[in-house]
Amino acid sequence: MGRVVVVGSLNIDSTVEVERHPQPGETLLGGDLVKHFGGKGANQAVAAARAGARVSFVGRVGDDADGDAYISRLAGYGIDTAHLSRTTGVSTGHAAIAVAADGENTIIVSPGANGRVTVGDLATLNDLGPGDVLLGSLEIDADVVAEAARIAAARGARVILNLAPYAALPGDVLDLADPIVVNEHENELLAADGYTPRSVLVTLGSKGSRWGAHEVPAGAVSVVVDTTGAGDCFCGTLAAGLAAGLSEPDAMQAASLAAAASVGWVGAQP
Ligand code: ATP
Repeated sequence: MGRVVVVGSLNIDSTVEVERHPQPGETLLGGDLVKHFGGKGANQAVAAARAGARVSFVGRVGDDADGDAYISRLAGYGIDTAHLSRTTGVSTGHAAIAVAADGENTIIVSPGANGRVTVGDLATLNDLGPGDVLLGSLEIDADVVAEAARIAAARGARVILNLAPYAALPGDVLDLADPIVVNEHENELLAADGYTPRSVLVTLGSKGSRWGAHEVPAGAVSVVVDTTGAGDCFCGTLAAGLAAGLSEPDAMQAASLAAAASVGWVGAQP
């Protein structure tokens, strides 16, 4: 059983329901504040750990109570947090989300400590080897994720890159990934950049997923409650499956079932 190292973001998501979104300069009263643990990297790490993988997280939180809470939370899932650093003088990443009565969201993200992750934080990747998996996503500096991919590939580990939110990476880095994971929108942005990477897995929402010649239908869902983080759950479970030695179609199948289960619950990590 290989190791999964996740390099990515952690955010605290704070959500308030409002009747309508405020105009510039306007103050509105909303409902009760609801906080969730989010951020693509952390969501993916939790999914991989819950799928049974041995997971290490590389990232940064602030030197605040949210950061302490996040470290304990990931440790509670059995995730190795030795490379999740506290950064002095900056807040843990935060997403302030207003949900209006019509269901439309307005979101302001403050990357905070996520923006302080550097190449110097990647030392643990030197211990990777064949059978291990690096899983990277792009809510942190894309240059750091690119370097992580280069180090992991040089050690013979499998590289999975989730190009979300979309950012152009150099072609040589895209070609290290097996696979790149994109949703339909990100796949269009990738195509518009005019580069065709060697291995691309496209998630298609309720239509399932496609990786080269392999197509897997979405898992059955009785009631769709909250699709937030379905893609992250898919990526984390895929990484765990590949680290456990499943075949590529079987790892995709496992990821589809986990992601389908995730849309039946509120919040990305629960
Ligand atoms: P998100 O941004 O919500 O995390 P995404 O846009 O990155 O998601 P999607 O392609 O929407 O990614 O979904 C990822 C995977 O989750 C899909 O490939 C599918 O397996 C599963 N999934 C998503 N929505 C549904 C659904 N309604 N029913 C069953 N499975 C779903």
